[in-house]
Amino acid sequence: MKITPVSHEWSGSLARRSGAPTGVVVHHAAHPRCGAATIHGWHIARKWKGIGYHFVVRKDGTIETGRPEWAIGSHTMSVNSRIGVCLEGNFETEVPLAAQLAALAWLIHVYLAGKYGKLVVTRHRDHAATSCPGKNLPWPIQAAPAAPAAPSRPQPAPATKPAPARPTRREGARKDAHVREIQRRLNVKRARDGRGRALVVDGDFGPRTKEAVMSFQRAQKIGIDGVVGPETWARLLR
Ligand SMILES: [Zn+2]
Repeated sequence: MKITPVSHEWSGSLARRSGAPTGVVVHHAAHPRCGAATIHGWHIARKWKGIGYHFVVRKDGTIETGRPEWAIGSHTMSVNSRIGVCLEGNFETEVPLAAQLAALAWLIHVYLAGKYGKLVVTRHRDHAATSCPGKNLPWPIQAAPAAPAAPSRPQPAPATKPAPARPTRREGARKDAHVREIQRRLNVKRARDGRGRALVVDGDFGPRTKEAVMSFQRAQKIGIDGVVGPETWARLLR
């Protein structure tokens, strides 16, 4: 796999990120047909400096460049210093195809991980009240299957085995082992419900658990939505 550079004319100078990116945020364009150049035009029309994403992954698996990797993006209010990746398509209504998913997996797990080390990978909806990148996008993005083309430089050996992925949990889950783990960890982290009480570890994700999740998210300065997605799990497991 490779990356296809697209040159963009910026409407101002881009701000530089301090240090390396710490994460990747995945988006969809909510549009059936568009590439980096089209999206750049949309974002210029919004009076931005240009395309807010760092990469656009087309349906055929072509990976196009948006903002340079050194620049702060304009894609997810609270975490614009992370790399923003946008998928062509609307995955509320369409289902992504294998070529596009394989390119996304390569971009995240081979290209970016090879360059910056392991990055936290989240969806736009993990940070804000949005359906982006759509309910039909399989999540999490699995590492690419044994890649036939080895990257040109050796992959750094993973220092630590990543914890097994935990599923997203939200209000309404009942008698659930993952909710019990969430409640136990929230208690350990001293996150309390709206009345300042520790949680009963019963596996039922009710309003008190949601309040404690939100209080934890507030303390962690991450998106406050009361849903335990990848980002919140990552913080809980620390
Ligand atoms: Zn988005």
